[in-house]
Amino acid sequence: QQQRQHSFAMQAAHTLDGHHIEVAANIACTIEADAAFQQGAEGIGLFRTEMLFMDRPQAPNEEEQVQHYRDVLTAANGKPVIIRTMDIGGDKPIDYLDLPAENNPFLGYRAVRIYPQFLPLFHTQLRAILRASAYGNAKVMIPMIQSIEEIRWVKAQLDIVKVQLDNAGIAYDTNLQLGIMVEVPSVAFIIDQFCQEVDFFSIGSNDMTQYLLAVDRDNANVAPLYNSLSPAFLRMLGLIVETAHQHGRWVGLCGELGADTRVLPLLVGAGLDEISMSAPKIAAAKTALREWRLEHCQNLFANACQCSTIADVNALLDNAQREQA
Ligand code: PEP
Ligand code: MG
Repeated sequence: QQQRQHSFAMQAAHTLDGHHIEVAANIACTIEADAAFQQGAEGIGLFRTEMLFMDRPQAPNEEEQVQHYRDVLTAANGKPVIIRTMDIGGDKPIDYLDLPAENNPFLGYRAVRIYPQFLPLFHTQLRAILRASAYGNAKVMIPMIQSIEEIRWVKAQLDIVKVQLDNAGIAYDTNLQLGIMVEVPSVAFIIDQFCQEVDFFSIGSNDMTQYLLAVDRDNANVAPLYNSLSPAFLRMLGLIVETAHQHGRWVGLCGELGADTRVLPLLVGAGLDEISMSAPKIAAAKTALREWRLEHCQNLFANACQCSTIADVNALLDNAQREQA
């Protein structure tokens, strides 16, 4: 069984009938990259760079960051690497930024919202990502975007940094793709407008579930309510993917949901192009994908979206698994 999984892990992920869906890895630091590719990652779907900024007296400088991003791109050997800009503040405190304590950090001052105040820090990270992009297939992704204004502001900053690099004669990938995390529900309803602004999307199901259902992802008292198999969540997933595809953009998913082999046929059926998960889950995910036909997954997803309750969705999934067995 393990040997079978390992051999599947080393091949591109596809369904029984040959539909390819990229299975990528989430990493939080450079050394995780090698392990991810050894475990069969087809790319890095989420590099959580905030870990580079935490638990230290000051932010990493530009050179240090370039080295980190470049090391990951080297390990990737031409495969795509999505570098997410720092998702800090809120529940991820950074001593040297001296951010105020908040009653409601998940709805507060975090991620893209703090970049204007710490502009040199943000510019340094963008410059480091751009410089590293000369050495591989890098893409940049912005966390917690909720409005078109925010992404336009980010693009203006990218343009400023590109001009700085041009003036200094420093090389970078001039086609560097820009994407956003889709983790705030507002984005789902204007995804067509975001398609005019960015190249790709990755659904952060961890945050999207908590914001859509208004359930704190870390609060044990409401944990039973925190469930991405809610029909509302599934319909939103369908809306995002369908609209983005209509406008020629691809959509990944990089929350914990992607690592649940039981849920995978639903994610395939929703039409996701890429699923990113922690590396140790990749072999099992690729193996599970091979048991499903695309059309079956699509029917399953359509039926799940018509369910009224999470229990009904679970029953549907259990039935489908039994039929497969
Ligand atoms: C998410 O919200 O689903 C996500 C992948 O980002 P993080 O878990 O780092 O908030
Ligand atoms: Mg998130």
